[in-house]
Amino acid sequence: MTGRILVVDDVEQNIKLLEAKLTLEYYTVYSAMSGQEALDKVKTYAPDVILLDVMMPEMDGFEVCRRLKADPETAHIPVVMVTALSEQKDRVEGLSAGATDFVTKPIDEVHLFARVKSLIRLKMMLDELRMRDKTGEEFGLAAKVASVTEQPSSGHILVVNDDHVEASRMQKILQDAGNNVMQASDAAAALQHTSKGVFDMVILNAVLDDADGLRLGMEILAQEANRHLPVMVVVDEDERSLIVKALDIGIDDYITSPIDPNELVARCRTQIIRKHFQDALKAQYHENISAAVVDSLTGLYNRRYLDAHVKNIVADAQSRQSPLSLMTIDIDHFKQVNDHPGWGHDVGDEVLQEVAKRITDSVRGTDLATRPGGEEFVVLMPKTPGNIAEMVAERMRQKIGREAISISAEPGKVTVTVSIGVSKLDLDGVDSAQELIKRSDEALYQAKHTGRNRVVMFGQVSKAEVEAGANADW
Ligand code: GH3
Ligand code: MG
Ligand code: MG
Repeated sequence: MTGRILVVDDVEQNIKLLEAKLTLEYYTVYSAMSGQEALDKVKTYAPDVILLDVMMPEMDGFEVCRRLKADPETAHIPVVMVTALSEQKDRVEGLSAGATDFVTKPIDEVHLFARVKSLIRLKMMLDELRMRDKTGEEFGLAAKVASVTEQPSSGHILVVNDDHVEASRMQKILQDAGNNVMQASDAAAALQHTSKGVFDMVILNAVLDDADGLRLGMEILAQEANRHLPVMVVVDEDERSLIVKALDIGIDDYITSPIDPNELVARCRTQIIRKHFQDALKAQYHENISAAVVDSLTGLYNRRYLDAHVKNIVADAQSRQSPLSLMTIDIDHFKQVNDHPGWGHDVGDEVLQEVAKRITDSVRGTDLATRPGGEEFVVLMPKTPGNIAEMVAERMRQKIGREAISISAEPGKVTVTVSIGVSKLDLDGVDSAQELIKRSDEALYQAKHTGRNRVVMFGQVSKAEVEAGANADW
């Protein structure tokens, strides 16, 4: 995973050092040597993560962080504060200024990369969410990011630790920060608790009495409900190889023991926000899919989907030289339903829903039923020659007109009929989706003008017949 990192430090040597380390890991690195320069470069380079030195003349790191967080354009970018090792109060102030995490000087490489990796992952998720929001907005859907970023960054945490004293201490710290925390003291309990997918993250001791913590982490992640569950391990400071191994096998983050309360809270917050983003993306995906392409009244695909799909289906049929038919269905005198005294639009909608259902029931699963608008429906029938489509249309016409439709207004039912125009694709490779639709529209027009409640195959009604029908004033 690559990303853009802005390194901010007033000492050139520090910048050079970080730049060298990060460039080696294939990150793109930008640098700034003052708070103001940092604020400017954030706008220019839109970094994914900012490494921000606390101690700088003129504007210190806390102030830079506060300004970044106050600007809606930059507020979402994760900021890692670079603090002196001993400065406990710096961490607290950094957090309240809006920092996402800390690294201490002198900078430990493993620690730095773990921070950067975890935060870039978070940022990618957020970027994707923002992009989907944008697409959603283009489709007329309400933006969702705001509601996600406003989501509480506290969640349900499971602490797996056989040291009850340490586990209870973590539990207290995290609960004081607003989280809901449960404990599990062995592997079996941990697996059982996590199997239901109710947690937002798991904190796991790397070394457990009865189990290998890292292995347990992998087993938890292998459960279907937990594929995106953040797992963080607690490791002793001197167990470097364990830390490297944990990050290597896909454990999201680690924290060293003895645990620093601020670090614990900050790190959990990041993981929980990421989990919320992940959940939001999933939910939004389903919402977008249905809201963007499905007609809410009937559950059929809408015009947007039809337009996109018909092109693909025509191209496919042509390349396979496989037949394709299309029908356009229009309810006869539907205006009379809406205009009927005491009925109105709502009853009209009930009729539309039932007609949609009868249309769906008359076609195969591979046929695509759509409602491009109003009281008109279009059905795409792949691998179907014209004569079969005509037969299906006739069956559909009868199915719709034969039985009255139940309505909520007196007298409780109404009978409607439909006219259907059918066209088939010319497989010569010149025919287009547009032409196919146009021909079925024309056939529908002919059906309307030769008596309604009938099926017309394009090209099979003579002009004279249509003219006679129009004159007869149906
Ligand atoms: P024809 O047999 O020539 O098709 O006559 P018609 O009355 O069905 O056709 P017309 O185009 O004159 O009227 C269509 C009516 O469909 C008018 C419009 O109010 C109604 N309509 C369109 N969309 C909806 C909808 O979503 N709900 C309801 N209830 N009515 C709709
Ligand atoms: Mg400095
Ligand atoms: Mg109509």
